[in-house]
Amino acid sequence: MIITRFAPSPTGYLHIGGLRTALYNYLWAKRNGGKFLLRIEDTDLKRNSLEAAQAIEEAFKWTGLSYDKEIIYQSQRFDLYKEYVQKLLKEKKAYYCYMSKEELDALRESQIAKKERPRYNGKYRDFEGIPPLGVEPVVRIKAPLSGEIIFEDGVKGKISFKAEDILDDFIIARSDGTPTYNFTVVVDDALMGITDVIRGDDHLSNTPKQIILYEALGFKIPKFFHVPMINNPQGKKLSKRDGAMDVMEYKNMGYLSEALLNFLVRLGWSHGDQEIFSLKEMIEFFDPHDINASASSYNQQKLEWLNACYIKNAPSQRLWSEALNFGLDMRENKNADFLADMLRERAKTVVQFVHMTKTIIDEPLSYDEQAVKKFVTVLGVEYLKNYVVFLKEYNGGFEDAANEFLEKNGIKLKDIAQLIRIALTGSSVSPSIFEVMDVIGLKAVLTRLENFIYFIEKKGIENE
Ligand code: GLU
Repeated sequence: MIITRFAPSPTGYLHIGGLRTALYNYLWAKRNGGKFLLRIEDTDLKRNSLEAAQAIEEAFKWTGLSYDKEIIYQSQRFDLYKEYVQKLLKEKKAYYCYMSKEELDALRESQIAKKERPRYNGKYRDFEGIPPLGVEPVVRIKAPLSGEIIFEDGVKGKISFKAEDILDDFIIARSDGTPTYNFTVVVDDALMGITDVIRGDDHLSNTPKQIILYEALGFKIPKFFHVPMINNPQGKKLSKRDGAMDVMEYKNMGYLSEALLNFLVRLGWSHGDQEIFSLKEMIEFFDPHDINASASSYNQQKLEWLNACYIKNAPSQRLWSEALNFGLDMRENKNADFLADMLRERAKTVVQFVHMTKTIIDEPLSYDEQAVKKFVTVLGVEYLKNYVVFLKEYNGGFEDAANEFLEKNGIKLKDIAQLIRIALTGSSVSPSIFEVMDVIGLKAVLTRLENFIYFIEKKGIENE
């Protein structure tokens, strides 16, 4: 069985790069009928693991990704790690190192002076004597002194590290007894039965160290897939300036979670030239072996385009349930479906969708100054006044009424359409004025037209 995991270090929120890693692991497990586990790497006790986990859970909930079993917290497993450190000590695969900080610093300086790579010199590797007093020892692993660590990365192909270049008897437990990062990852991945590790390629240099630990502990080595980073369009590290970093910010900006997942799955992976993937299709097609070996580039326009596609195809109910997040409750509104049909093709985000809806259903509190300057004329306002009188007496649909009125006055719709639009919505950009009228009804149409005329006359008309 394929078992994958997502193992975030808690930073207080879930980063979009992290969500992509989580998604890849999720899809690969689901595709194989396997399991996807979540582990919070919160050994840095200064951070609050509960809050961080809540932020991650919230993001998982929003995106609909689910994990199997309970969340594992590294902070609750210190005893377990200690046991495995002890095991390695007993088997003489690891040892206490009593080198003091001063001694280590001096060693480092002399190596740098000789233009050598600073590294531990193995002083206590085979030490049998009486340890020096007053030094709390660290525990170091006996790393291979020569040869190579070779592994087949599912994304990058064959990777090899020369023992003498890279490796060192690295520390697995600090002098206060706490385990180091590479050690906890290996113990956990092994005990959780992880078969496939899909993670950012910033961890590539940790992998040979982890392989040494797998071997020392007698655990089976999982398959590794190191996923290249997401860069900004300039090819640099993605930063806040390029877009949001926190997954939940995308929700606040009015993105649908399906659109975000679709966007992320394609950042670094493709399936022919298909752009739109339902979650079901992602599960059907995703294979980490097909992840691009080079970095991908974040493209905000693409995300907006995808979001617009998903909004365009979303059922009305779905859109109104999203609108609730922005304080708009249309569940009881009889025009809800009609409005959704009218607006879903025009909105790129739920925020825009809500804004457009409000522009229609709420009486305008102000009028777009530029639009007023541009479109309001003395003659136009005269027409508008006559139109109000005409509408009050007319029996029938808004479009028919307008046609008759235009004909009677010998004018065209464009002569008054913008004025009506500003009067109804406050702005000169809105869907068809007749659709807006249908939604708000005659009474509101008349009120809005009269309010606008009142406003204009009070203010004075600049254009002849
Ligand atoms: N905790 C690590 C991180 O957030 C991930 C460790 C791993 O995937 O092996 O970068």
